[in-house]
Amino acid sequence: MRKQRIAVLGAGPAGAAAALGLLRMGYDVRVISDWRRFNAVEGISERVLQALYGAGLQRASAVAMPAATREVYWAGARQLRNRELLLNRQHFDRALREDLRQAGIMLIEARVLAIDERKTDTSLQLDGADDLDVDFIVDARGRQAPRSGDAARGPETLSLLCRWEGAPGEAASAVESMESGWCWLARLADGQQYWQWTFDARQADMPGKTELAAWCAAQRVGTHLAGSFYPIEPGVAVELKARSSTCTLASDLCTLRSIRIGDAAMAADPLSGNGIFQSLSSALQAPAVVNTLLCHPADATLAQSFHRRRVTELFYRFARLGRDFYRQVEAEPHQRFWLDRQHWPDQQDTHAAVTRERVTTDWAPVIAGSRISKARVVITPDQPLGIWHLNGVELAPLVDALRDQPWQQVIAQVAVPQRDMVAGWLCSIGYGPGTEVPGQRIRSE
Ligand SMILES: Cc1cc2nc3c(=O)[nH]c(=O)nc-3n(C[C@H](O)[C@H](O)[C@H](O)COP(=O)(O)OP(=O)(O)OC[C@H]3O[C@@H](n4cnc5c(N)ncnc54)[C@H](O)[C@@H]3O)c2cc1C
Repeated sequence: MRKQRIAVLGAGPAGAAAALGLLRMGYDVRVISDWRRFNAVEGISERVLQALYGAGLQRASAVAMPAATREVYWAGARQLRNRELLLNRQHFDRALREDLRQAGIMLIEARVLAIDERKTDTSLQLDGADDLDVDFIVDARGRQAPRSGDAARGPETLSLLCRWEGAPGEAASAVESMESGWCWLARLADGQQYWQWTFDARQADMPGKTELAAWCAAQRVGTHLAGSFYPIEPGVAVELKARSSTCTLASDLCTLRSIRIGDAAMAADPLSGNGIFQSLSSALQAPAVVNTLLCHPADATLAQSFHRRRVTELFYRFARLGRDFYRQVEAEPHQRFWLDRQHWPDQQDTHAAVTRERVTTDWAPVIAGSRISKARVVITPDQPLGIWHLNGVELAPLVDALRDQPWQQVIAQVAVPQRDMVAGWLCSIGYGPGTEVPGQRIRSE
C-alpha cells in the first residue's frame, strides 16, 4: 500500500514536533514553512525545555539561555520568581529546522497560498515551490493560519516588542503590571535588550507608525523596573514589532483530512509564558489522532472528539489561570484592560475541589500507543477529561472496586512497585483506609 502523504504547514515548535511524531509512525511527511519575519525573544520554563528535548527537538532546546534572575512587580508587590529561560526566536526557529533535517524530513521553504480539497486528495498552492498533492494536512501556521469562525476569542490584545542593543552582560527577565496593561523585560547576554508592552489597542490613544517607538519609550520610563533593569537608559528602540496576542480558540480543529495544532488551534495569552508548552501539547497528541483518521476510520469520530476536547479543555484551563493573575490587580473602574480580563472567559473556579463524591468513572477517548481508542477513566472535577492510568496501573477499575470492597483488599491488587504511588493518588481524590462508600455514582455513556 502507498504510504500516505502528510503536509505539515509551519515549522514552529508545533509543526516540528508533530512532523517528527508522524515520521516515527512511518508516514511520508513534508514540512512547508515560510520564515518568521521578525526578531523576537520569548521565555520558557525548564518543563518546556524538557518537553522540547523529549519531542526530539534537541537542537532547538539547546538554544535556550538561562536568565540569571526573573523579577516580578505585580499588583504593587516586588519579588524574585523561579528561573526563566530565554529564546531568541530566530535562532530557535533555525534550530527547529535543523532538527527536522537531521531526522530526514523534507523541508520545503515556501509560503502556502491556497489549499484545495479535492475528492480524494488535497492540493497545496505554494509560493516558492511547485504545487503539492497530499492526503492529509497538519496546519501549524501559528497565529497566521487562516481564521476559522472562532469558537472563542478573548479581549482584543496587542503586544509591542521594542528591541535595542546595549552592552553584553548577564541575561535576565522581569515582568511588571502597569495601569494600561503589563510589560515584559528581557536582556540577553549578547547585549540585545527587549521591552514588550501588552495592552488593548482599542483603549489606548495609539499614535501613527512613525511615532510608535517614542511612544513606547515614554511608557517604559514611567514603569518601576525599567530604570534598574537596563543598565543604560536606552531611549527609542531600533526595532519595533506589533503582534496580536488575543487569546483564540479555532472552531474547525479537526476534520477527516486536516487537523489544527499549536497556535493555529488555540493561542494563549503571553502572560502565561506557556504558549510554546501549549503548542507542543496539541502537537504531541496529533500523530495518534492523524493515524486513527487515516488507518482506523471506524474510530474517526472518537479521534476528532479527543482532539477537540483536549484542545478546548487546555484553552479554558489556561484562560482561567490568566484571569486569576489579572484579578490580583485592584483595578479602578476606568481601567478597562484589567476589568475585561478579570471576567474572561467566565467565573468558573480554576481549581475545583476534589472530593470522593465528585469522582466518577466513564468511557473516554485516550491515546493507546499510536491510535485513539476508548478506555475507562476516572473523572474528577480537576481532570474532566479523565485519567486512564498512573505509571501503567489502570485507575478506573480500582475506583470502581472501592465502591464495595475494603481499601486494603483493593490496594493489594496493585503491584508492589506502584502501590505507594497509586495509594497516594487515591488518597488525593478522597479515598483511603475506611473511606469505602457503597453506591458511588458511575456515569453511563
Ligand atoms: C507577543 C507574544 C509573546 C509571546 N511570548 C511567549 C513566551 O514568552 N513564551 C512562550 O512560551 N510563548 C510565547 N508566545 C507564544 C509563542 O510564540 C507561540 O505559542 C508558539 O510559537 C506557537 O508555536 P506554533 O508552532 O504553533 O506556531 P509558530 O511558532 O508561530 O510557527 C508557525 C510557523 O508557520 C509559518 N507560517 C505561517 N504562515 C505560513 C504560510 N502561509 N505558509 C508557510 N508557512 C507559514 C511561520 O513562518 C512559522 O515558521 C508569545 C506570543 C506572542 C504573540
